[in-house]
Amino acid sequence: MTGVKSEAITAEKMAEIDKKAVEFGIPRLLLMENAGGAVARTIMEKFNHGLKIIVFAGTGNNGGDGFVAARHLANKGAKVNVFLIGNPEDIRTEETCLNWDVIRKMRRNIKIHVVRSLSDLKKRERYLKRADVFIDAMLGTGLRGSLREPFFSIVRLINESGIPVVSVDAPTGLNPSTGEVHGLAVKATYTVTFHKMKRGFLEAKEYTGEIIVADIGIPKEVEAAAIGEHRSSRRRTSGVSGQATRLVSACLLGVNCRYDGQNELNEKVTRLAAQEVLIPVCPEQLGGLGTPRESMGIIGGGGSEVLDGKARVVDRSGKDVTENLVRGAEEVLKIAKSLGVKDAILKAKSPSCGCGKIHSGAFSDMLVKGNGVTAELLKRNGIHVITEDNL
Ligand code: SF4
Repeated sequence: MTGVKSEAITAEKMAEIDKKAVEFGIPRLLLMENAGGAVARTIMEKFNHGLKIIVFAGTGNNGGDGFVAARHLANKGAKVNVFLIGNPEDIRTEETCLNWDVIRKMRRNIKIHVVRSLSDLKKRERYLKRADVFIDAMLGTGLRGSLREPFFSIVRLINESGIPVVSVDAPTGLNPSTGEVHGLAVKATYTVTFHKMKRGFLEAKEYTGEIIVADIGIPKEVEAAAIGEHRSSRRRTSGVSGQATRLVSACLLGVNCRYDGQNELNEKVTRLAAQEVLIPVCPEQLGGLGTPRESMGIIGGGGSEVLDGKARVVDRSGKDVTENLVRGAEEVLKIAKSLGVKDAILKAKSPSCGCGKIHSGAFSDMLVKGNGVTAELLKRNGIHVITEDNL
């Protein structure tokens, strides 16, 4: 798993690699063909032949991958229904348009349904009930903000159906870079993701199901070029001495700022400090709490609810320290903004620094989904947050 973790990349990085591949001379249409072909192959391997398949496709490139998969599966004898979620006129890219035109001509083997609303979907309920496999090619990595209708209801329907789902590139609703869920996300049986494992999947197994990383023919030279560019752009954009710069939870660097006066010295973070500028911050101390102090937990949610005034942070004696944690988070954000820092490595599971899962409750003895108060505030302000576990 360590190898997988170190290989995992963000969706933004993948977009850079895709762009470089095209500059290298690999047509987007070929990448889409390879991606859709890989999805079809996975389905043929994992399920029986003679399947009834429904492809839920969006109007972007993820939908285009789904159209390619539909064509290959129909050629192998599957009965394929494609549900286009949206208007055909809104199909966005040339490659998706081309593949849409092809499947529209495959009338004998592929039935197409245009779903613009929930009522369009309800009229086709009989197809849904008969399906053996769903393909989720709705949004992939293209989701911005929360899921809107009709996607929200379709995702709920997929999850409640009990029918196996294969997600294309990323389950709809799941942020592949951070593992965050945008209101609701498809709970896939398999996720076929392309070229490299995505960072957000490492903590999101209940949504991704089994992950298959499919080779879509991107040469190693392309990746090396994309990584070189990524690094130099990080150096250009960082605000400290021209080097890659990140905020880091001070306790991970060995500062004795933990509630019990100890630290959480982390070997990987220490090694990183030799290559990058790491700026240590302890949000709890910055919020005015002394060391040692009592351990604390969030009651009624995570950092998001704390920032929205719907949950509070209390220490072991029952003292409300919400204001301290919010103030600490704001101070950390101020440091990030004043130095132009765009990345942070924060201590996993802490109610201040945690990301993805945090300790909760007055005795901080439960683990719940969510971000710590500081992690949440940084993310809301466009700062990319990972924990030491994702390094
Ligand atoms: Fe470490 Fe963050 Fe807790 Fe400070 S608030 S001790 S930096 S985990």
